[in-house]
Amino acid sequence: MSRKKIIAGNWKMNMTPSEAVKLVEELKPLVNNPDVDVVYCVPAIDIIPVVEAVKGSNVEVGAENVYFEEKGAFTGEISTAMLKDAGVKYVIIGHSERRDYFKEDDALLNKKVKKVIEAGLTPILCCGETLEQRETGVTMDFIRLQIKSDLVGVSADQVKNMVIAYEPIWAIGTGKTATTEQAEEVCKGIRDCIAEIYDAATAEAVRIQYGGSVNAGNAAELFAQPDIDGGLVGGASLKADFGKIVNYK
Ligand code: PEP
Repeated sequence: MSRKKIIAGNWKMNMTPSEAVKLVEELKPLVNNPDVDVVYCVPAIDIIPVVEAVKGSNVEVGAENVYFEEKGAFTGEISTAMLKDAGVKYVIIGHSERRDYFKEDDALLNKKVKKVIEAGLTPILCCGETLEQRETGVTMDFIRLQIKSDLVGVSADQVKNMVIAYEPIWAIGTGKTATTEQAEEVCKGIRDCIAEIYDAATAEAVRIQYGGSVNAGNAAELFAQPDIDGGLVGGASLKADFGKIVNYK
């Protein structure tokens, strides 16, 4: 079975709405690749202008976060209905920055994953180990725990349509990429874990990205691995290099 690659930019807390529109225009001629799903995950305030700006292109828009409640007195939060109405298709859930700085735990992330799926949006569920965990040899144990906890109550059919991003924390924004072997080993481990929880068909279908200092120079080798179905890209998604990553072949 061949899974379509998905390459998503995570813009983080960068780009004002007008800067965001300018970046979309600059990238437009560079990110045209029908063999790849291309997504810009942008700050909430940029969603509406970016959705407008990508119209007529191959790019879909994602959010960087969401709240799990339907609506109501949750000052400052954004619901799945709001994202959907604005034209969003994907939502990043459980990025390590949210787990670390905003203390989002697996119980909360599980609620978010379920709400996003229920709304008809696609979660990009992030997981990944710290350097200390890697050095003590518990990488796969930790990631299996994250995946199992975050997917409680999610069905096989729902998992088939979602995206999982393996992002070793020590490789995010550090310029330190995991080696191709390390990235493939963990992405395969995640797929094996999905096969154990669900079945082989679900594991074959789910798309697993690598993220962590992906750039124009390393994308081709990473994305050629059998269990790496594309990338979640931070820093390099804010420049013309993103076009080279999308056209990595
Ligand atoms: C990220 O934050 O998801 C990420 C992978 O960042 P970078 O590519 O900058 O390491």
